[in-house]
Amino acid sequence: RNVLMWFRTDLRLKDNHALHAASVRSKVGNRNLIALFIVSEKEWEQHDEAPIKIDFWMRNLAKLKESLDKLAIPLVIKRAETPESVTSIVEGVVKDMDISHVFWNAELMVDERRRDRRVKRALLALPNTVVEECDDQCVIPPKEIATKTGNPYSVFTPFRNTWSTMVETNPHFLELSDEPTANPDEAKKLYADIFASSAPNSHPHNLDAELMEELYPAGEETAHLRLKDFLAEKAKQYHETRDFPYENGCSSLSPYLSAGVLSTRQCIAAARAANNNKIMVGNDGLRTWIKELIWREFYRNILVHFPRVCMNKPFQPITEHIRWTADQRRFQMWSQGKTGYPIVDAGMRQLNTIGYMHNRVRMIVACFLVKDLFVNWQKGEKYFMNNLIDGDLASNNGGWQWCASTGTDAQPYFRIFNPVLQSQRFDPNGDYIRKWVPELKHLNEKQIHDPYHTLSAKDFAKLGYSKPIVDHADSKKKFQDEFKRIIAEH
Ligand code: FAD
Repeated sequence: RNVLMWFRTDLRLKDNHALHAASVRSKVGNRNLIALFIVSEKEWEQHDEAPIKIDFWMRNLAKLKESLDKLAIPLVIKRAETPESVTSIVEGVVKDMDISHVFWNAELMVDERRRDRRVKRALLALPNTVVEECDDQCVIPPKEIATKTGNPYSVFTPFRNTWSTMVETNPHFLELSDEPTANPDEAKKLYADIFASSAPNSHPHNLDAELMEELYPAGEETAHLRLKDFLAEKAKQYHETRDFPYENGCSSLSPYLSAGVLSTRQCIAAARAANNNKIMVGNDGLRTWIKELIWREFYRNILVHFPRVCMNKPFQPITEHIRWTADQRRFQMWSQGKTGYPIVDAGMRQLNTIGYMHNRVRMIVACFLVKDLFVNWQKGEKYFMNNLIDGDLASNNGGWQWCASTGTDAQPYFRIFNPVLQSQRFDPNGDYIRKWVPELKHLNEKQIHDPYHTLSAKDFAKLGYSKPIVDHADSKKKFQDEFKRIIAEH
């Protein structure tokens, strides 16, 4: 009987643990390897997946099909009308295609884990069917890393230290698995109709499709090229350039990592090799970049060990008592990039235009929404998920809770970003603002960060730009007072 690989957010052939295991299994007894992908729009909608991200998935799915076709591995694509129907779809494929072994990579989110448990139960009830769930999402599977007392880590630095030691001393964590081997040639005839069918290669969204394809071309090959170029050109200066949004000294690999077109293992293995096989020491740029990828691992561990964070709960329960504003207008102005704070507006407009925002600016806009506008961070988290091409529950939730001072290792509540100072520091010439807020493009580098206070009332009015929605000093005090209140009362 045949072997099935169910692809989800792991749209790649290289270093895909479940795919590799499925391929090895299919060779035992000379069986065919069959691939499955389920288009589950309702489920994605419920999880706030951005249309632009689904479009990226679809474009990568089409590329994946091309690669699988070359290996005579048929990719079956099914559509689930409801999240619940996923179980019967997998069951149907297993029966129709005479499958004995089903492989997938474990997902970490609560709903996905529940879904997989349901599917697994149904499959195990079928005669002689085996299910194998592989650990692939993290370099070190979350169940294998713990503090000396056996508890999960909730602070980043000790997590990073243990993580690095484990990886340094157990090279198998960074071993990359091989691509699958091809099916026997007769598979081409046997599954001719599947090979002849085409995969969906787009999904409706409101952004400029041509620009998105140019910024984020699909496919594993592109992802690897990007990784290679980044390591050769920008990575060594990453520690110096990463915070300047106009320079963009970052890798722009997040969409590929989120869709699983590239694995964190591949990135860390390549960066480590470029850094003389070191993780914690060596070139400052490379080790800083590796550190950011360890943040990704850390937030995945938090999700697994503290699942309340993906059920609309803050990591720090006390912060549930914060009395957020009910003023809808504030959130609207923020989301449209009309707060009157240029760096915030530039970030939001970048997000609304290309589904991406630079990390430093993500921190600034998130802190601003929560601490200046006093809007519940969960509204911002949802807006990001709904609009980011790289939306990732663990990193997004971790990032928002860090900024809101509600999370693990969070920014202390009394340290509040001043959006004007952040702007002057990280966009000194104002080039990032000029790119995304064209109303301000003629202002000089002194005026551009705070036009309302640096121009005359008449000149400001001519810009057609929003007046600051709040006063930063007042807001800062209000947020700090509210935090002090909850600490005193709870
Ligand atoms: P690089 O700087 O080149 O970093 C390489 C990779 O490391 C990234 O692709 C990413 O996978 C990982 N990484 C970098 N910084 C972080 C971080 N702080 N936390 C976790 N992983 C990190 N990242 C997402 O992938 N998806 C999200 O939905 C997301 N939401 C965020 C929300 C907020 C409020 C904040 C502050 C950060 C968020 N991040 C998120 C983290 C970070 O902003 C992005 O990963 C980064 O901007 C992606 O650009 P890059 O690939 O060029 O990153």
